Amino acid sequence: MIRFIILALLSLFFTSSLFAQTAKEGYYIYDKEHRYLKIFNSRPEMIIDLVSSQGYELYGPDGLGVWLKSFKGLRYNSLAEANRKNNSERGALADYQTPEQIGEQLKMLQEKYPEIISLTSIGKSVLGRPIWAVKISDNAGQDEIEPEFKYIANMHGDEIVGRELLVKLIADLAMAYYDNNERIISLINNTEIYLLPSINPDGNAKRQRGNANYRDLNRSFPDFTTSDNQNISGSRPAETVAVMNFQKERNFALSANFHDGAVVVNYPWDTKGGDFQFQNLIVDLSAEYARNNSDMRGSGEFNDGITNGYDWYEVNGGMQDWSYYWHGDMQITLEFSLIKWPRITEISRQYNLNKESMIQYMRRIHQGAGVYFADNQLSGAITIYKKIDANKNELISSFGFSHGEFYKVLDEGEYLFEIKTTSKETNRSVNVVVKNELQENNGNYIFIN
Ligand SMILES: [Zn+2]
Repeated sequence: MIRFIILALLSLFFTSSLFAQTAKEGYYIYDKEHRYLKIFNSRPEMIIDLVSSQGYELYGPDGLGVWLKSFKGLRYNSLAEANRKNNSERGALADYQTPEQIGEQLKMLQEKYPEIISLTSIGKSVLGRPIWAVKISDNAGQDEIEPEFKYIANMHGDEIVGRELLVKLIADLAMAYYDNNERIISLINNTEIYLLPSINPDGNAKRQRGNANYRDLNRSFPDFTTSDNQNISGSRPAETVAVMNFQKERNFALSANFHDGAVVVNYPWDTKGGDFQFQNLIVDLSAEYARNNSDMRGSGEFNDGITNGYDWYEVNGGMQDWSYYWHGDMQITLEFSLIKWPRITEISRQYNLNKESMIQYMRRIHQGAGVYFADNQLSGAITIYKKIDANKNELISSFGFSHGEFYKVLDEGEYLFEIKTTSKETNRSVNVVVKNELQENNGNYIFIN
């Protein structure tokens, strides 16, 4: 028996050195007291997810199930088996549209509302499926100077609620726009909204967490606290590379990342303890989202339906932290439904729960300020100071920018932007004012000639 366990351990190590953090096998671990959490946490090839008072999910390479057998008295369930059973018993897979059908639906919406919707593929999945990005804005075909917002869903293929919410949201926003809904018209006319319903279509088609190679996309981004701390593609999954390239080409300032398996708003950091750069603002944005969603507001597991990521459980290589650390794009993680693949009848309830929150969170991007330049190829960096009083400025941070456009979501207040660009003539300092509920025409920008 001992020899068997050692062999199993060795094979696990061997596989892990070849495929870091593979979600090939997944189990729900019933460990209320979190007695085994430390052991699993110490294994770099393993992924722990959705820690609760009942237990947590554990993912790893081939052989994980064999290894788990060596823990006497540990109770666990195969997640793939539970899905298979659910699929065959009630045809759960067929409840939902395929990635191809979703693509057709997005094309139909684009053809119906061409002035305010454009549709592009930001890249291909491992199996060659397009990764769709829907842009909603006035003059959708043009790249205008407006704050850029995004929602990304379904990076875990078996978490389907977010994908459905975004497809509904696209149709709903377009209808409201042509129904003369002033709030939505103002949002669409003054914002560039990007909605990505599914960045893991291969995993989604098979109802599995990872991509076609079982890679967990939300553990595959650069992480500033680990050795994988360079913002380069390297050997990352195709879907992750597509998102990274897309982000580099745009100027996103606010975003959210959709998941299921819990009901909570999770804010950065995930990868380390301590405060986020805009701690009060990120808590305020998160709390507002949760307040407008009665399931989140009434959460038994989380106060006010929100949590700091690291306080909940540590995530390395997550998209949320990468998004802010490298791109200054403030991102929260939304967990909608305890059941990751609910009956389809649950979707309209979820949509009603989240509609106001989703719209209001998008509107909040206008609590910010930016600059743009006559030369739309200009790049550089802007150092932001907050004005404390007439003689005192507090350094906030420096952010890079490219394509002659810069915008950041900020706390209310007065700021000084110190601009350094590749062209000396445009170097200067400008004063900006940021207010909540302020929505300037096409965003709060200063033009620099
Ligand atoms: Zn997830």
